[in-house]
Amino acid sequence: MQIVGLSDKILNGDRRALARAITLVESSRADHRAQAESLLQDLHGAGRQAMRIGLSGTPGVGKSTFIEAFGMMLIERGLRVAVLAVDPSSARSGGSILGDKTRMDLLSREKNAFIRPSPSQTHLGGVARHTREAVALCEAAGYDVVLIETVGVGQSETVVAQMSDLFLLLLAPAGGDELQGVKRGIMEMADLILVNKADGDLKPAATRTCADYAGALRLLRKRSQDPPDFPKAMMVSAAEGTGLSEAWDEIEKLADWRLTQGVWANIRAAQARMWFEDEVRQALLKRLQTPQVRDELSNFGDRVADGQLTSTAAARALLSCLPDL
Ligand code: GDP
Repeated sequence: MQIVGLSDKILNGDRRALARAITLVESSRADHRAQAESLLQDLHGAGRQAMRIGLSGTPGVGKSTFIEAFGMMLIERGLRVAVLAVDPSSARSGGSILGDKTRMDLLSREKNAFIRPSPSQTHLGGVARHTREAVALCEAAGYDVVLIETVGVGQSETVVAQMSDLFLLLLAPAGGDELQGVKRGIMEMADLILVNKADGDLKPAATRTCADYAGALRLLRKRSQDPPDFPKAMMVSAAEGTGLSEAWDEIEKLADWRLTQGVWANIRAAQARMWFEDEVRQALLKRLQTPQVRDELSNFGDRVADGQLTSTAAARALLSCLPDL
C-alpha cells in the first residue's frame, strides 16, 4: 500500500485517505502493521480530539435510524461526524450485519460524514484494537464527533465504553418486565439512556419504559464526578426526529461539566493506560502461540494431569523458560 503522504492527507480531512488508513490498521500483515503504527504515532502528535460517543442497543431497537437522524442533525449544526461499528457477530459469521445492510442512506451521502462498517475479525481483541485505532484516525482527520456503534450482546459494550467519552444506550418501549432484559453492567455504563420509538401508538409504552429506567438509574450507584442528575433516561423518536436535539444538549452539558472538572482528561488518561496494558497482555499471549510453547504447555499439562506437579509450580516452571522458547 502506498502510504507516502497519507498522514498529510488525513490531517487535511481527505476521506479516501482516511478509509485507506483504516484498511491499513485492519491488516494483519507485519509490514502493514509497522506502517500503521508509524502513521498513528505521526498523527498522535497533531493532538486533535473528537467527542467519542459509544452507542449500544439490541438489533431492531433503531440504531441505524437513530444514527442517521442524529448524525444529520449534528451536520446541520456544522459538525463533522464519523460512524464506526463494532459488530461481534461478524466474528462469528464472517459477514458483518452492520456493514451489509443498506444503512444511513442520507448520512452516507454527506461530505461531512464518514461511515465505516465493522472490521471482520476473528476475535474481539482484534476488533477492539482496530476500532480504537480507527477512532484515532478519525480524530486526526478532524471529525468533531465519532460515534462508535455496537450491537447489544454483552462483551462488546465494555470494549466500546472503554474507548468512548460518553456512552449511550438505546432501548425500545416494552411492557412490564423489560428491565430484566438489560444487564445491570450495561446500565451502569450508560451516561444517557434513550428510549427510542416514542411516537404514535408506542408513545405511552415509551413513557412508562422511560420512567422505569429513570427509576432504575436512581438506584444505581452515582458517579461522584458527574452532575447529580446523571446518568439520565429520556425519550426520542429517531423516525420523527424528536428528542434528538434535547439528547445532544444533555450530551454537551455532561461533556462541558467533565471538561471543566478535569474528569474528561482523567477518563482519557485511564483509558490510554488501560489500552497500553491490554497491548502488553495481547503481545505476551501472542508469544505463547509458538509451536515450542504449545509443546511445553502440553508437556507440563500432562504432568499436572498426572499429579506430578501442582498447577502453580508447572506454570511457574513454564514461564521461567519462556524467554528461551
Ligand atoms: P437497528 O437494528 O438497531 O439498527 O434498528 P433499525 O434502525 O434498523 O430499526 C429497526 C426498525 O425500527 C425499523 O423498522 C425502523 O423503521 C424502526 N424504527 C427505528 N426508529 C424508530 C422510531 O423512532 N419510531 C418507530 N416507530 N420506529 C422506528
